[in-house]
Amino acid sequence: MFDFSGKRVLVTGAASGIGEAAARALAEAGAAHLVLVDLDESRLAAMDLPCETSRHAGDVADEALWNAIEEECGALDAAFLNAGIAGSPAPFAKMSLGDWRAVMSVNLDGLFLSLRTAMRLANDGATMVVTASVAGVKAEPTTGPYGASKAGAIHMAKIAAKEGFARGIRVNAIAPGGVDTAIWDGVPFFDDLVAKHQGDRAGALAEMARGMTPMGRFATAEEIAGQVMFLLSEASGTITGSTLVTDGGYSL
Ligand code: NAD
Repeated sequence: MFDFSGKRVLVTGAASGIGEAAARALAEAGAAHLVLVDLDESRLAAMDLPCETSRHAGDVADEALWNAIEEECGALDAAFLNAGIAGSPAPFAKMSLGDWRAVMSVNLDGLFLSLRTAMRLANDGATMVVTASVAGVKAEPTTGPYGASKAGAIHMAKIAAKEGFARGIRVNAIAPGGVDTAIWDGVPFFDDLVAKHQGDRAGALAEMARGMTPMGRFATAEEIAGQVMFLLSEASGTITGSTLVTDGGYSL
């Protein structure tokens, strides 16, 4: 049921964290060809995967990138639309329009363009997963553009699911809580916590996870990738338009 033999799969944000773990899991599950998209050209080029790949370095919010992918890539059996950024946490009263737009550009414009291409290239019966966040489910202060964009991502997955019915296409969202990836690095409160732990990133992450998550730990990228594989596979055959909240109990 988790066999992706012969499948052609698009993964965005593929060079790090959840996207990288999903690309590896898909390749190990037999995917024939991965279309990998990421801003980080060197990490993308360095990925060693046991399947055919086409690699596209660029910004998911750049329409020209998606025009090129549509011309070059051929049909898709699945898509994991995962690229996203956290932005700088701030209350609305202190947020600049530039900071708001920077997050919206990647998390909504980029998702729109990647979803449009995925729908255009999708074979009948294709499966798609959009990476949202528990921040799009549970409102928290200072998460304005991130939370709003991820709530938007959840709704986009529902709309796409309805648009996909006629062709047997399923679209779901995954909404992780904290996941141990590079997305936290550079977020001011996390950098402060790492400094408090004298550079011990794992210690800082563990403290943050204990504070945020009833389960007491963050997810690994590999755990989230496994859940994405479920949503992309035949095992989830009747699930569409759903949001899988995977947050260690944070939103309860
Ligand atoms: P990450 O930083 O490890 O990986 C994100 C990848 O996306 C990077 O390789 C980055 O280069 C790429 N990327 C960023 N902006 C891009 C752009 N404009 N165009 C193309 N590629 C771009 O982070 P991650 O945690 O693996 O994040 C993946 C997704 O998971 C994001 O959508 C994020 O919002 C979501 N998410 C993460 C967490 C968490 O705690 N890590 C929780 C909930 C949701």
